[in-house]
Amino acid sequence: MSGVTGHGVTSHGYLLDLIRSTGGMSRQQLIAETGMSRGTLYGRLDTLAGLGLVYEAESLGATGGRRPRRIRFDDRGRVVLGIDLGQTHARISITDLLGSEIRRADLPLRIEDGARSVLGSVLDHGEKLVAQGSGEQLVGIGVGVPAAVDLATGWILHPTTLEGWPAESAVDAVGARWDLPVVVENDARAAAVGESRTDEETLVHVKVATGIGCGIVVGADVLRGARGVAGDIGHVRAIVPGAGSEPLCRCGRTGCLAAYSSGRALLERLAPHGVDTLAGIVSGVDDPAVLAALLDAADVLGVTLATTVTTVNPHRLVLGGALGVLPPLVQRVRERIYDTVAERARPVVEGSNLGARATVRGLARLVARRVYAPDAVDETVVRAG
Ligand SMILES: [Zn+2]
Repeated sequence: MSGVTGHGVTSHGYLLDLIRSTGGMSRQQLIAETGMSRGTLYGRLDTLAGLGLVYEAESLGATGGRRPRRIRFDDRGRVVLGIDLGQTHARISITDLLGSEIRRADLPLRIEDGARSVLGSVLDHGEKLVAQGSGEQLVGIGVGVPAAVDLATGWILHPTTLEGWPAESAVDAVGARWDLPVVVENDARAAAVGESRTDEETLVHVKVATGIGCGIVVGADVLRGARGVAGDIGHVRAIVPGAGSEPLCRCGRTGCLAAYSSGRALLERLAPHGVDTLAGIVSGVDDPAVLAALLDAADVLGVTLATTVTTVNPHRLVLGGALGVLPPLVQRVRERIYDTVAERARPVVEGSNLGARATVRGLARLVARRVYAPDAVDETVVRAG
């Protein structure tokens, strides 16, 4: 995660990072791990404890009469406000620093109403949710948006696909309410972080909802690419065996994956059958017309994803989003990938177990990473003087 490698760990920030990433150690273990002198280590721990960042937890068992105690990162009561903005609804959650939901609110919205209107009511709900906690300390806010984002600035890139959402709108709106770190991230990427199980895992997360999003996590880090659009597969040209004329995509081109396999494309196809919401597709999956449309979407998605799978070679490909988790879609995508990809490159292909919780879980982890990054902690120590 942060490149802590045994000796050479000296600053308060790196010491805390070591304690966080290992789940806690005794003073003796920390001396052995960092090579710090006893005096330096004890001084640093005192400072961190004074800032409420570490505490002495349980005994590690007796060794020759002494009972060394584990020094732990103090995440008790610390929470993140996570806001997952979709095209038609927001999930607003208070989570712990690992991303487990403590309480939440769901809010219908129309993302095309624009940043001012949408963020106003969403943040009102967020404030109410924060106020409901007692003994909690809000450490930061994460916002997931269905668009590409520059992670360093939190600006929404290419806001042409998100009309009425100026680049800096989400950062500014949150910043006007809280003087706390804010992470704005693409929703599918945040979900990929939420889905990731270990720091060693290579994972591709594909979200199939109104649109199609994708996040790639390699060794705990999200792959961003040169201009922040790595994994933005919704508008690659789909591979469609025996296709006739190519459908027009919302982006103005033809033949994009999203024009075949997104929820929006499915709803256009299913309009004559009276299906006009994603929920209608989910509940209508036993209807032959709905199932046929879903499987056609899955065929194109699976064959098109084979290139991504071969290029990235993930351990797991996780399908998320309201439509992505549907078992017939997951099974068909798996079949198409396995048909197309060499045996040695086949990942586990599965529907998300976290479902709609994945994005806020990832946002919480991203916020915690930013707040407790070694540099940020060192800065806090300096400011506390
Ligand atoms: Zn397109």
